[in-house]
Amino acid sequence: MPLIFCASAVSAPAAPGAYALWLRLASPLDVRAGTRRGVLPAGDYLYCGSANGPGGLRARLARHMRKNKRVHWHIDQLTSAAKALGAFILEGGNECALNAALAALPVPLQGFGSSDCRRCAAHLRFWPEGAALPSDWENARKAARFT
Ligand SMILES: [Zn+2]
Repeated sequence: MPLIFCASAVSAPAAPGAYALWLRLASPLDVRAGTRRGVLPAGDYLYCGSANGPGGLRARLARHMRKNKRVHWHIDQLTSAAKALGAFILEGGNECALNAALAALPVPLQGFGSSDCRRCAAHLRFWPEGAALPSDWENARKAARFT
């Protein structure tokens, strides 16, 4: 399956896979990741996760894009405060592989979203304004504009 971009949860497949959620934070946010605390500066973020439960990617993204929820995962702190602008989706994909594709982007807080992962420093990346994503990501975003 190719990487696709979905602007909303309803346009995402109800299939299992991995995603990178695009979030925009309007003002700095105090967050925790386990025992670590940090301040996320205002700006854009990409959070890599996977959805293998009922409803697949569509159900997971709908939860992320909903404001009022009990904070269960690290990312809930951010999705409760930030605006979700869409998600890059790879049906059948792996969250750590998506995260690895974003290795050029900075990690804002060690351990954020990756407490059950031995491979990644964090599953959250800061996406500085104007920073290019890998070409297949940029192509997915362009393709979504014309559908
Ligand atoms: Zn990982």
